[in-house]
Amino acid sequence: MTPVVALVGRPNVGKSTLFNRLTRTRDALVADFPGLTRDRKYGQAKLGELEFIVVDTGGIDGTEEGIELKMAEQSLLAIEEADVVLFMVDARAGLTAADQAIAEHLRKSHKKVFLVANKTDGIDGDSAVSEFYGLALGEVFQMAAAHGRGVLSLLELALAPHL
Ligand code: GDP
Ligand code: MG
Repeated sequence: MTPVVALVGRPNVGKSTLFNRLTRTRDALVADFPGLTRDRKYGQAKLGELEFIVVDTGGIDGTEEGIELKMAEQSLLAIEEADVVLFMVDARAGLTAADQAIAEHLRKSHKKVFLVANKTDGIDGDSAVSEFYGLALGEVFQMAAAHGRGVLSLLELALAPHL
């Protein structure tokens, strides 16, 4: 089975930028992978030796009350069907209430979650990402999806158990 990687996070953290980078050498959106619902955006990704399905989600509006009830249904379904979840946050904007709400949900899920601090280009990444360790999701992986920095190394690590 081709592993499935879901991109999750509040709006504007860079999910679609990463999706486009991972899929741009493959023009076709995935249309016929059995068991995958069509209402989320799927792409076939090939990165070095890695081949996987990547799922872009519209983003979760964590500013609403009752995050567990109100998380976008698509994002919840994407998490459920994924082998690996990349939870993206914005290293420039810093930690937000929405990030904390999403993290709370992910800590309760049984999915393997990788916490990705995006937009670390042109800033001091180490100091920018330190506050995200407070989300208690383990290591914070630095990335600049717009430039490709940190993308291959993270996907290699995340997908290693699924190859
Ligand atoms: P989404 O809402 O999570 O899908 O976020 P988008 O992919 O639409 O990106 C939101 C904004 O962040 C856009 O203006 C992107 O160009 C910008 N962005 C995404 N990745 C990076 C990055 O690595 N560095 C910087 N500086 N900006 C980025
Ligand atoms: Mg998007």
